[in-house]
Amino acid sequence: MNIAILPGDGIGPEIVAEAVKVLNALGETFNLETALVGGAAYEAHGHPLPESTLKLAQQSDAVLFGAVGDWKYDTLERALRPEQAILGLRKHLALFANFRPAICYEQLTNASSLKPELVAGLDILIIRELNGDIYFGQPRGRRKSPDGLFPGADEAFDTMRYSEPEIRRIAHVAFQAARKRDRRLTSVDKANVLETSQFWRDVVVEVSKEYSDVVLDHMYVDNAAMQLVRAPKKFDVVVTGNMFGDILSDEAAMLTGSIGMLPSASLDANNKGLYEPSHGSAPDIAGQGVANPLATILSAAMMLRFSLGKVEQANRIEAAVKKVLSQGLRTADIYEAGTKKVGTQEMGAAVLAAL
Ligand code: NAD
Repeated sequence: MNIAILPGDGIGPEIVAEAVKVLNALGETFNLETALVGGAAYEAHGHPLPESTLKLAQQSDAVLFGAVGDWKYDTLERALRPEQAILGLRKHLALFANFRPAICYEQLTNASSLKPELVAGLDILIIRELNGDIYFGQPRGRRKSPDGLFPGADEAFDTMRYSEPEIRRIAHVAFQAARKRDRRLTSVDKANVLETSQFWRDVVVEVSKEYSDVVLDHMYVDNAAMQLVRAPKKFDVVVTGNMFGDILSDEAAMLTGSIGMLPSASLDANNKGLYEPSHGSAPDIAGQGVANPLATILSAAMMLRFSLGKVEQANRIEAAVKKVLSQGLRTADIYEAGTKKVGTQEMGAAVLAAL
């Protein structure tokens, strides 16, 4: 099995190194090949997603990705910014389904910004459509306003759009995921205001006829944002579009205490995927050896489960992570009084020992 390892920028190389140690300790014969991506690739090759990196990702069975980005690249033209690498990989690998589980580990209940009773035992899954919506919709740009309140003024515009097949395929993914869990699916939209959202809702309802065993409900995105902090445990699986999913999945991440704990998977139609922590490159703590590697290690577990068919090995990793948390080991982001603060490498070593 060929796995492309793309550490990226900031804390990316530090946290990916720990996940690689865990993969190598499983006793499997994985072929791991590393390549530059993001700002690191721009420095070396003049592009955040060089042809060689893209080719490696395309030829691999799965991609383990760290994070990209640094404030020092903020002045580069958009096409050359590190974040374009992740957008490019999503597009070229046709990754349209983003899985973001938000699980509040029993041991970390106090790390959440919400009251412990609201998050204890939380286990929800947000499925975000990744290829369409206002992030990719054309036309977009800047121009002199042809109409509106201030004709002739400078303006910028983006286009929110979704086609029926795009909605249909993500809806199927979501219903099938719900089937493997508590069989409850919430579709989030803004159908009271947006035409795209009403269409989204119509198509999801149509698809739901094939899944009579899953209970479907609909929620407006503003209400969903509120319910996620009011009563998050009421959700099981949430499916939504690209922009709403981007925002809600970060909100859900914080319920669990730290974004440093949350893995993610982005899958194509054949379950080939890119696996990465939900957080970014954290330039503020890069190089200090304090970043939490657990989200990346848990992303490797998701990779084993979804793309490589190694469910037992995925379970072993997840059990090892729970064990180190039970041992009271904490990186700075999840530290609380009475626990032991450890760095990135110590946390990785503890997971290895638990394995
Ligand atoms: P971020 O997720 O990098 O950091 C937000 C906060 O969380 C920071 O305080 C950081 O120190 C902390 N944090 C993140 N991961 C952590 C970890 N593993 N352990 C401990 N603390 C952690 O988001 P940001 O600051 O908004 O963005 C920084 C850079 O990352 C930007 O260039 C942004 O574009 C990029 N980014 C990349 C991705 C990606 O590669 N997929 C995703 C989001 C942001």
